[in-house]
Amino acid sequence: ATPASAQLRPGEVSLAGVTKQFGDMTAVRELDLRVRAGEFLSMLGPSGSGKTTVLRMIAGFEEVTSGSIRIGNQDVTRLPAHQRPVNTVFQDYALFPHLSIADNVAYGLKVRGESKADRIASVTAALEQVRLQHVADRLPHQLSGGQRQRIALARALILRPRVLLLDEPLGALDKQLREEMQIELKSMQREVGITFIFVTHDQEEALTLSDRVAVFNDGRIEQVDTARAVYEYPETEFVARFLGLSNIIPAPLAAQLTGSDRAISIRPERVRLIEGDAAPRPHDVILDGTVAEVVYTGPTTRVLVDAADGLRIIAETPNSHHPSADVRVDRGDRVRVAWEADHAAALP
Ligand code: ATP
Repeated sequence: ATPASAQLRPGEVSLAGVTKQFGDMTAVRELDLRVRAGEFLSMLGPSGSGKTTVLRMIAGFEEVTSGSIRIGNQDVTRLPAHQRPVNTVFQDYALFPHLSIADNVAYGLKVRGESKADRIASVTAALEQVRLQHVADRLPHQLSGGQRQRIALARALILRPRVLLLDEPLGALDKQLREEMQIELKSMQREVGITFIFVTHDQEEALTLSDRVAVFNDGRIEQVDTARAVYEYPETEFVARFLGLSNIIPAPLAAQLTGSDRAISIRPERVRLIEGDAAPRPHDVILDGTVAEVVYTGPTTRVLVDAADGLRIIAETPNSHHPSADVRVDRGDRVRVAWEADHAAALP
């Protein structure tokens, strides 16, 4: 937790001991989180884990039950939403259907009382930034989903908030457009240098976009760290399982294999098949087993191997252009699987 007296930079956000109850249901429990200025932080977790509630408390749409929230050097815990230096982009974009795109983007500036000349200049610049100058005179329903998404961003960014809150803003887009927008969103964030706090339940999206990922489970943060660290070195079984495929080796088996008294998690792409009498590497952990299934996924092939004690290990290897160079095992083959000891993460 950040001490109440600590100096925060503009654009830094700090939550200390934040709890939210809806009646006797606790949605967020004693949450501590510090988001750095200019950082892209994702809140990732399953449905109902409390991400949106945290976002709404930062925005001021929801009151905290206890704890405090600071943005920069201001305690905003009791401040109404419109006085906070933040802006929110929602999944449904919330554009005004009867206003032109230019008027939608200008709306916040008008509310602030800016002159018409200033508004026009700012709107032109904001539309250029999202490369949509040519749609200024259209109505929202005349835009594609991806374009509406960009307009929602332009409308939020034009107010120059210190912090931008985004609640599943790409959720309504199809997969391809979503992936394009992810890359755009990331470069836009880097350009404007504003703190982005982004809610998603899509692990790939969180990993792609974020400087750091906060993994939520049941109103708590299980781990907050860089995308690479939460993926490669999950600190809990929940994090290991939520961020993609993982091999979990329970404590007693891990003890036999590695001497560790803790369960371990190892990602499938770190597991190799050792074919024939090929030699293992010096720090390999090795298991014998039988191939249960071979699954082609496009970029990779997954081989499911049944080892002793009911343990099933997944090994995933990239496919090459030449099928002859790919994995050549079949169901029922006896194989050895191996991974380097320090590629595994110890779980509590
Ligand atoms: P999702 O990805 O589905 O939006 P989430 O992680 O954002 O999920 P929240 O929307 O924050 O989760 O919800 C956390 C819990 O709080 C859920 O159990 C939800 O039902 C409950 N909740 C949220 N808002 C309210 C409310 N206004 N009244 C009562 N319960 C609520």
